[in-house]
Amino acid sequence: MKVIRSVKEMCAYAQVKRREGKKIGFVPTMGALHSGHLSLINKARKESDVVVISIFVNPIQFGPKEDFRRYPRNFSEDRRIAEKAGVDVLFFPSTQGIYPQGYCTYIRVEGLSNKLCGAFRPTHFQGVATVVAKLFNIVQPDIAYFGQKDFQQVVIIKRMVEDLNIPVKIKSLPIVREKDGLAMSSRNRYLNKQEREKARILFQSLQLARRLVEGGERRAEAVARQMKRVIRERVPEARIDYVSIVDPKSLEEVSKIKKKVLVAVALWIGKARLIDNMLIKV
Ligand code: AMP
Repeated sequence: MKVIRSVKEMCAYAQVKRREGKKIGFVPTMGALHSGHLSLINKARKESDVVVISIFVNPIQFGPKEDFRRYPRNFSEDRRIAEKAGVDVLFFPSTQGIYPQGYCTYIRVEGLSNKLCGAFRPTHFQGVATVVAKLFNIVQPDIAYFGQKDFQQVVIIKRMVEDLNIPVKIKSLPIVREKDGLAMSSRNRYLNKQEREKARILFQSLQLARRLVEGGERRAEAVARQMKRVIRERVPEARIDYVSIVDPKSLEEVSKIKKKVLVAVALWIGKARLIDNMLIKV
């Protein structure tokens, strides 16, 4: 596996591969790799000739009071995992490489970026869209892979790619979960043993939503209310950012559940902000 740290070298490498007619599959990450990342890498390996992953903890997608500084970083372990997974190129740029002195261009995907997590993290998706656009220009992938764990992110990236005519196909893959249902996340490392136990509440609340809808409940507000009730009952110390039932395309809140909806939850347990979601069909 090749490790490329320079932006220029990554561009040049991608250009050569494209000229050779090779298909580039790309998985952008912030590192602290886990099985969720691996499912994206494995899919990329099946569908493309060259698999590139990036590890970049993107400072501009973190708010001033968020966890940028303590976000888990473990390059040597990630390198080992990526190599074992059959990654061809690990792109590991520096912050200076991505945002050199004088950098001042940002991408805002309007509307979609203010909903759900965007309401609580006002500059987050601008940071995400900007770095992903830059990474697409550098890595020049044919296909890029994202996880439905960050459902809103995928919707925003798809919109950006369409709006800016970026020649890349976006694929999104299902959420990989721990045995007890907790969605895998690098941020799960913030949880101590008791908090880890309590974190099951996210998936449990989503399962409750599914049962309610399957049982005929069509009022979104009633489903959200029950979810919040069970969260408060079982984990009273959890701080809920939102429990929302939205249209999976527009991310607009729905009042009646008439077709497929996205049920999404974000809450804090201790110092960890955890998110999860589930698509529920009627
Ligand atoms: P991150 O390193 O957290 O920025 O995630 C990099 C990519 O992996 C994003 O597209 C995430 O949506 C995806 N991802 C993270 N966790 C999971 C998971 N549990 N299942 C599937 N994809 C995931």
